[in-house]
Formats: sequence, structure tokens, C-alpha cells
Amino acid sequence: MDSDEEDPVNYVYGPVPSWRLGRSLGIDPVSTQGKTCSFDCIYCQLGRTVHPLTVRRCFVKPEALRRELAQVGSVSVDTVTFSGVGEPTLAANLAELMAVGRETLPGRPVAILTNASLISREDVRRDLALFDVVVAKLDAANEELFRQINCPFVSCTLADIVVGLRQFRGAFSGKLALQMMFVEANRKWAVEMAALARSCAPDEVQLNTPLRPSPVPPLSPAEMEEIEAAFAGLPTVNVYKAKRPEVTPLGETETGRRRPTSGPPSTTEKRFEKEGER
Ligand code: SF4
Repeated sequence: MDSDEEDPVNYVYGPVPSWRLGRSLGIDPVSTQGKTCSFDCIYCQLGRTVHPLTVRRCFVKPEALRRELAQVGSVSVDTVTFSGVGEPTLAANLAELMAVGRETLPGRPVAILTNASLISREDVRRDLALFDVVVAKLDAANEELFRQINCPFVSCTLADIVVGLRQFRGAFSGKLALQMMFVEANRKWAVEMAALARSCAPDEVQLNTPLRPSPVPPLSPAEMEEIEAAFAGLPTVNVYKAKRPEVTPLGETETGRRRPTSGPPSTTEKRFEKEGER
């Protein structure tokens, strides 16, 4: 994990068919073997957090990323997305890596998927502001649910994260989307979560439930419909209604370890797969 060590893994994956970002080419600024995250969400498709981390450090050398992106060449994508095997804002050189991505793949919007755990930090907000699209996680309506669903290693509270999100919104002119994962544990809290979302003034609210392999079963289309109703007046996208593009990944291995198509079985047999979800 040290930036001075030669790392055999690749940093670029996809493109993946994203219901939120179209044909999305992934850049993983963490790229460790095993998940490195500040959370251990109960529904995480990547399994348990192997490397709990709450401080920023360098994982990927910018020149190594530049070399990989040069090999990718002129792939047809809608978005370049920073995401991967953990929380991308843990990368202390995120701004530098983002500049490499923008330079090497010009003309595409650059997005980041973050769990927002470090958004109270000024340096993290400054890095996030470099992106065209910031998709920030918000899964809970209160501290207890936050601990139950996201299992954070960070010492900050949900309230701290919400304050950070509002601060970020006030200074950010790009697209801010909130990604909200709904499972049984927070299903009854949709009204409170909608109120929290409103207070952050996002450009979009992405209403999700775990349709990819997850230890937690998804909610049904009807349950998600009810949740969507609680968000009336907000610009929402419901995972069951979103369209996905057709894509062919550059390589299965690196894509598969960030976007697994098989994994731990759901805790119940209940699955509601959207056509083409996988
Ligand atoms: S924040 Fe993302 S990567 Fe980290 S545990 Fe949660 S779902 Fe998994």
C-alpha cells in the first residue's frame, strides 16, 4: 500500500454500465488487494473492509496511472469515474490523480463516488470540488442508523457529515448527487431521509437498493416506489427505473474485483433483479 512499492494491480477498470453515469470508465485511486475503507457498510458488494482506514495516504503513483490510461487509448465512454475497492477520498494525492485523468481523457466529465466520511475536512472538500460530478453517500436519518448501516471507523458523526455536505454544496457549482441505499433497516425512515436530502440541496438523489450481489437483500420495486413518493419535489432517480447502457469492459479481472457479478449470497432468497441489472 505504500506509494513507493511496485504495485502489480491495475488502476483502470470498466467501462461499466452505470445507471447513474452511463458508460463509465473507472479509475481506482486506492487499488489495494482487499477493500480499504473508512466504513464497513452492511450491504457492501465488496465484502468486509480488510483495511480500515480513516487518514489519507498515497496508494497510486500518478505516472503509473498515466501509463495505464495511455494504454487504454480512445475508449468510448460517457464519464470517467473515480471509485473502486474502497473510499477514493482516502487517496492523499487524489487531486493529482484527477488531473492525470482529465488530461489523458479530455472532454469527458470526471465523477467521483464518495462515502462522504471525510467531507468535514477542508482539503477533502477542496479535492472534491475539482470534479464535475460528486456522488456522495447518505444512508441514514440518525446516528444510530448511521452506525448500524455504515459501521464507520471514522470518529465523525452523521451530523458532521451533513454539515460538511452542506458546506460543500455552498461552494460547489458542479453536479452534486446524493446516493441513498435503502434496505430493510432504513426503509421506514424515507421521510426523514428526504428531509436530510432537501437540507443539502443536491442536484439529484439516487434511490438505490442492493441489486448486485450483497449480504443484504434488496427492497422490492413496490417498496422503492413508496420510498420515492417520500422524496416528492426532489430530483430523484430510482434504481429500478433507470436505463443502463450496453458496454464491453476492457478486462474482466480488474472490473470484476470492483464490480463483482457474484458474491456472498443474499441473507434471504428475496431478489428483485431489474432486467439487465448485472
Ligand atoms: S463506503 Fe462503499 S466501499 Fe466502503 S464499505 Fe460502504 S459500500 Fe463498501
